[in-house]
Amino acid sequence: MKVLVVGNGGREHALAWKLLQSPKIEQVVCVPGNGGTATMQGCQNLPLAVDDFEGISKFAVENDISLVVVGPEVPLAKGITDYLQTKGLKVFGPVQAGAQIEASKAWAKALMQEAGVPTAKAAVFTEATAAKNYIRTEGAPIVVKADGLAAGKGVIVAQTVAQAETAIDDILQGQFGSAGNSVVIEECLLGQEVSVLAITDGITIRPLLPAQDHKRIGEGDTGENTGGMGAYAPTPIATPELMERVQTEVLERTITALRNRGIDYRGVLYAGLMVAANGDFKVLEFNCRFGDPETQVVLSLLETPLEDLILACIHQRLGEMPPLDWKKGSAATVVAASGGYPGDYDKGKVITGLEAAKLAGAIVFHAGTKLNADAQIVTDGGRVLNITGLGENFQQAIAKAYTGIKEIQFSGMYYRRDIGHRVLNQES
Ligand code: AMP
Repeated sequence: MKVLVVGNGGREHALAWKLLQSPKIEQVVCVPGNGGTATMQGCQNLPLAVDDFEGISKFAVENDISLVVVGPEVPLAKGITDYLQTKGLKVFGPVQAGAQIEASKAWAKALMQEAGVPTAKAAVFTEATAAKNYIRTEGAPIVVKADGLAAGKGVIVAQTVAQAETAIDDILQGQFGSAGNSVVIEECLLGQEVSVLAITDGITIRPLLPAQDHKRIGEGDTGENTGGMGAYAPTPIATPELMERVQTEVLERTITALRNRGIDYRGVLYAGLMVAANGDFKVLEFNCRFGDPETQVVLSLLETPLEDLILACIHQRLGEMPPLDWKKGSAATVVAASGGYPGDYDKGKVITGLEAAKLAGAIVFHAGTKLNADAQIVTDGGRVLNITGLGENFQQAIAKAYTGIKEIQFSGMYYRRDIGHRVLNQES
């Protein structure tokens, strides 16, 4: 089989890496890919934009691509699956109608309320005065969200009413473009966030191992929000009892509600949960694709061939699959970022030590890297590498990731030294 993976992050490198472990997969083409996918055996890059549906479809049809796996949310929200399906291609990722679950927080909220999925109290506004009146009644802290896709930047956890009012003005006055045509204002929840990535064929839905990520740039989970500075799985916070409840109260209810709306949702449904100290939980958001960097840890632990799962979803035969097979133990990933991220940063810095990190036992997933004209791997984004370790427990897995990252160098490289601090404390 030849597979085409759409995207260029650490998630897509991990998808390509996992697919290529199967003897059934002869080649993976990444669109546009990164320095890791350009240099991985069996993999090649195709320099097209992720929303160049025509270009992707032409290549896929002409090159006998058996399967297209879509990483990021933007092409899904723009309807890549619908388009490629009309060309007779097999695609893993929901149709545009299903991708609304991520592309519109107001739509997702209405679906959750209709389905009885536990979620934070919320209201939706298109007009600033009404939104501000609501905030004054509710008080702070309170969460203000742009309705649409805003590259992870459209959520403001406001500590004061004044901050919330400013956020409302910023969003409705166009800071996030049309993503801010309406705002969702939500009760502020406390607890620990857990990511449950589930795969579905539109009828059966199965969770992958629950993961946690570190969103903040600074140690001790402080400072600005990022795309994620590290992750680990399986998190012990998601106990078997909690996962049982997630299955029935979140995943199954959501898939049923989607079906009731006439949406045949096949792909990943990612539930971002807030788990309170008493073990109760609510859904913060849904995503319509694999999480990044959670995918890097979850796929590192998956034994079942990924293409079997994906094809079972596409052919609506997930219910016939045996239970998923997982490696015993834990996985952790540490993100090496460009100095200055999530603000401004330089690109084009030469990266060394990649082979040494692998020899030290780490798995090196590339994110913002590229292969330059001199055949050097250079930085090309904010989050540059995801250095991943496996072990019998979190202590070993995290130590392995840090042993690997210490081998790597590029000018301005930054990483957090405390990934997994909560699970390490629990383990000890
Ligand atoms: P979302 O894209 O909706 O998941 O929001 C991004 C991040 O904002 C989440 O991962 C949380 O850290 C935070 N967040 C979102 N909603 C809430 C909420 N209701 N209470 C507290 N934090 C939230």
